Order: sequence, then structure tokens, then C-alpha cells
Amino acid sequence: MKIPIDLKTGEVASEKKEDIIVGIDLGTTNSLIAYIKEGEPVTIKSGAGKNALVPSVIHFDAEGAVVVGDTARDRLITDPSNTIFSVKRLMGRSYDDVSHLRHLLGYEIIDGDTASLVKVKVQGRFYTPIELSAQILRSLKQLAENDLGKPISKAVITVPAYFNDAQRQATRDAGKLAGLDVLRIVNEPTAASLAYGIGLDRQQHMNIAVYDLGGGTFDISILRLEDGIFDVLSTHGDTSLGGDDIDRSIVEHWFKTYGFDLATIGKDAAKGQEIRLLAEKAKKHLSSHETYTNSILGREITLSRADFEKLAAPLIQRTLESCRHALVDSGLKASELDKIILVGGSTRIPLIKSELKNLFGLDPDDNLDPDEVVALGAAVQADILAGNRKDILLLDVTPLSLGIETVGGLMDVIIPRNSKVPGRAGRKYTTSVDGQTSLRVSVFQGERDLVADNRKLGEFTLRNIPPMPAGMPKLEVHFVLDADGILTVKAMEERSGTQATVEIRSAYGISEEEMSRMLIDSIRHAEQDLKMRALLESRNEAANISLSTDRFIRQHTDQLTENEIITLEKLNQNLKEKCKGDLRDDIESAMKELNDYSAPIAHRMLDISINKALKGQKI
Ligand code: AMP
Repeated sequence: MKIPIDLKTGEVASEKKEDIIVGIDLGTTNSLIAYIKEGEPVTIKSGAGKNALVPSVIHFDAEGAVVVGDTARDRLITDPSNTIFSVKRLMGRSYDDVSHLRHLLGYEIIDGDTASLVKVKVQGRFYTPIELSAQILRSLKQLAENDLGKPISKAVITVPAYFNDAQRQATRDAGKLAGLDVLRIVNEPTAASLAYGIGLDRQQHMNIAVYDLGGGTFDISILRLEDGIFDVLSTHGDTSLGGDDIDRSIVEHWFKTYGFDLATIGKDAAKGQEIRLLAEKAKKHLSSHETYTNSILGREITLSRADFEKLAAPLIQRTLESCRHALVDSGLKASELDKIILVGGSTRIPLIKSELKNLFGLDPDDNLDPDEVVALGAAVQADILAGNRKDILLLDVTPLSLGIETVGGLMDVIIPRNSKVPGRAGRKYTTSVDGQTSLRVSVFQGERDLVADNRKLGEFTLRNIPPMPAGMPKLEVHFVLDADGILTVKAMEERSGTQATVEIRSAYGISEEEMSRMLIDSIRHAEQDLKMRALLESRNEAANISLSTDRFIRQHTDQLTENEIITLEKLNQNLKEKCKGDLRDDIESAMKELNDYSAPIAHRMLDISINKALKGQKI
């Protein structure tokens, strides 16, 4: 059966063409929104004389009111614990993934269950990074609606090429929560290439290096463009390297050169901030001048381009080292690269351009504003999806997401809508009860978070799983969608090699009206769905913790004090009670309370086991 969509546009055939689809660069430090105006991509400015950069910063006031952007950024110093920045670094990550960032963030991240998705605590409430990113997206949407004078409901959002499935899905969910139908998630380097017009001609085949150095992150991606498809050959980078580090080197240099008293300035946050801002000003000035002069603390300070380059050189060398790695990983030689594209404000530094020319033997493309290029490219991609570029034929895509039911009736998407066809994807699972010997796999299609709201395509059971404790079996569910829209679903248990397969003939056997309705419903119910998903996820997490606590008490009765057993049981009972209710924050608090109490005890038990093991005793 064929995909009932307009293959020129990649959209449901009946949808109107006049809708504006915006392109969004959802950045770590700044975000931008762009669209196509009279055939050309333009970014939307937040006011006359302002630029298009909206700081990705969110501030919550005492009443819970939220502001995003410049005003929120000003609160970073005056009200750090209620001002959230760098949310992008938390998207789709667990506490374990991001705990090393804790000292850099002025706000609280929650270490309840360190293996599940991280949350942020502001004024006693728990927020997921998805909810926080949705605030930024809402504000961008508002900006565009004010500028264009009409509602915006569809967007293309960019993510780094190295983002994994969970991070991409989190970005999609954030869009949905902000009331946006996210038509496609596009890699940032691909968007940057599109902004330069690369990839708009089907015949074009080339290799492109995209060098992205922002304020706090660096990455290099090597792409191959073939038959209108961008493939990421390799990526490399450092998520804690950027222009801010160069500013810091300048500050240190001034301290040394002018003998400022570090002890007094170190205590004065405002003074420290002033010097840092001056260093950034000097850096920017030196991108187009030979010297910078100003005065601070009654002293005249200067910095020459040559001295600046000495300070920046070690950091730039680190980025070049990454470029060499990426080149090796891509399997290409430097001479096989056809283009170097610059992204991020820091690439305005002339030394970077000359070093890249030395390394790759090519002049980098820098005609477009490196801060805007990703958003501009996202707008080009949006325009293609809107069907406004008749010359470009889009690849076949799945019009609706395909996935399976997981604990609590949640839809777990395996192939997201708008994925290329043919395509394949898999995901790993495990069991949640001891001794489970079979697994029912129910396959669904649709955009809603609860399978009950989606369309069931089929169901089968994987039997003969050898009995094992919960969490032990390694289950994998694999989807293969062929060019005719036939979906093959395979489930296997890796430890025992047990497997089962089912073929679903009509993955798209659905009318256009029904598909449109499913898409519209998913947007209309987005907020409610995400809340429900979050509640169910918290309940699942809580159920796992309760189960482990019961097991822990059983296994360590001898080593635990009576008081510890009573308290653990009491806190666990409280958690079970809270799970019966609908208040997610209550469940989270109960979970945190139980975890905070049990963590040191668990550590003690671990020490006892290790000591026994060291003495040669059986644990
Ligand atoms: P982004 O995260 O892409 O917005 O990059 C912002 C970074 O670019 C900051 O570290 C800025 O200091 C830096 N930047 C902006 N303009 C210039 C310039 N003209 N020369 C050097 N660095 C710049």
C-alpha cells in the first residue's frame, strides 16, 4: 500500500499550502526563529534595532510567572536559583549523564533516581527539560505570531548532529507542548548547508565540513550530500569549549599584566562580570581591528591582535585536533572536502578562518551571519516541506509515527513520523516483574502519548523467555519499514536468542481525513498528553523504586536496624499511597524522600559486601 501523502511536499495531501512553517534554531545560549519572506529566508527580530538572538534563558518569579529572553538573562546574576539556562544540555539526559555540570548550573537539578530523566526544581516544583524548552519555543512562537500577524502551528527545529534518539524525541515533545506540530527535526550542520543553497540541486554531490564554535560548545560535522540526501559521516567536538573560554583567557592575561588584586575583585561579582564583559568586547573588536584600548579600575588596558591570538591559539588548536579526528572518522582526505561552512559567533575570529584554510586547504564560506545561518537553513527546510520549492522532490516519509505500547499504556515511538522510507529502527527494553516468560508487543500508529488514543496495527507475543529476575532480560524490538509501507516487527530476547516476528501489511491503511484528524488531535491534546505521560512515567519509576525497596529490605534484614526497616517501610508505603493519586509533584517528592533516606544505607550495605568479598567470603 502506498503512502497517502503528497510526495512533493511530504505533507498530508489535503492540507492547505498557505500555512507558514517556521524554522527554529533552539540553541544552548541563544535561540532564533526564521521564515521565508518573498522567497528568501529571514530571521525575526525581537524589536526595532534588536538582533534576532533570543537568549535561551527562563526566569520564574515568586508568583510563578515566566519570562524568556533578554529580561530573563539579566536575572542570571540577581536571581540565579530561579533562572534556568543551558536547558539544551539537559534534554533527553539522565542525572548521571549531566551530574558533572551541576557546579556550573546556578539552579537545582534533581538526583532522585539517577538513571532516569533529569528534572529541575524551581520554587518547590519539578520541571522536565522538555517543559522548560517548551517555554523558550512558546516565546519564539509568540515572537513570530506578533511579527507575522497570524497564528503559527508548524515548525522545523534543529538539533546537533550528535543528538541521540532520546534527545531528538525530547526536542519534538517540547515543540508539541508549545503547540507546534514539529514537521521535522533537522541536523544543525544540514540546516547550515541548506542556508548556503547546498542540497537544493538533486544532481549536486559534495562533501562538506561544518565548523560550529559558539559561546560554550564546539562541534565539527562532516557531511556527504548525495542524491539530495545529507549523510552525517562523522562528528567530533567538545561540549565545554567555546568563546567564553577565550574571554576567560583574556581576563587572566589582564590580571597578570596589570597586577589587579585578585582577592578583592574575586569577591566582587559585579566587578568580575564587568571585566569579563570588557574582555568579550575586546575579543569582538579584534575580529576587525588591530588593537583594543579601554580603561578599568583607573588603569588603561590594551590588547593587540597578536597578543589576543597568542591567548586564543591553544583553544583553537583543540578545535583543530577535533577536526582532524572527524576527518579520519569520515574516511575522507582533506582534499576531498568541497566546502567549509562556519556556524556560531566565535567563527568571526580571523585566526580561526586562516587555521581552517591551512588545515583543509579551502577558504571557509562566511557570507552568511554565523549566528543566524542554522535558523535560516531551518526556514529553507520548512519551505521545502510547505511545498513551495517545486524543483525539490522530497523523499518518501512516514506520515504518522509507529511505535509500541509500554508500561502504563504509553506510546513508545520507534519510527517517528516524517522518517525516511525505507527505514529501520530498534529499541531495547527489559522486564518489570520477576520471572516474566512472555512479552506482548502491541504495535500502534499515531502521535498521541497514550496508545488508547492511537490506532492499533497489530499485536503478537514473544514466548519462551527463560525466567529471570526483573531487569535482566535483554529485549529488543526492531521495526523495518520497506518502500511499499510494509512494516515488519521483530522482538527478541538476546540472552536466550528467543525471537518472534510479525508483518503488518498496511502500515498506512488509513484515510487522509483520519490521518489529518490524528495529527490535529495530537496538537490539540499535547499539553494534557504530556502531563499524563509525565505522571505515568513518574508512577512507573515509583513502582520500580518500591519494588527494589521491598527487595532490599528482604535481602538485608539482618544488617538493617529496626528503626531503618520501619522508616524504609513507612517511606515506601507513603510512595505507594502517592502513586494512587494524580499529583506528579507529590510522587516525585515521596520518591526523593525515600531515595535520600535509602541512598546512604545502600552505600553502607555495599561497603559491607565489598569487605566480605575482600575477606574471601561469599556475598
Ligand atoms: P553563539 O553561541 O553562536 O551565539 O556564539 C556566541 C559567541 O560568539 C560568544 O562567545 C561571543 O563572544 C562570540 N562572538 C560574537 N561575535 C564575535 C566576534 N565578532 N568575534 C569573536 N567572537 C564573537
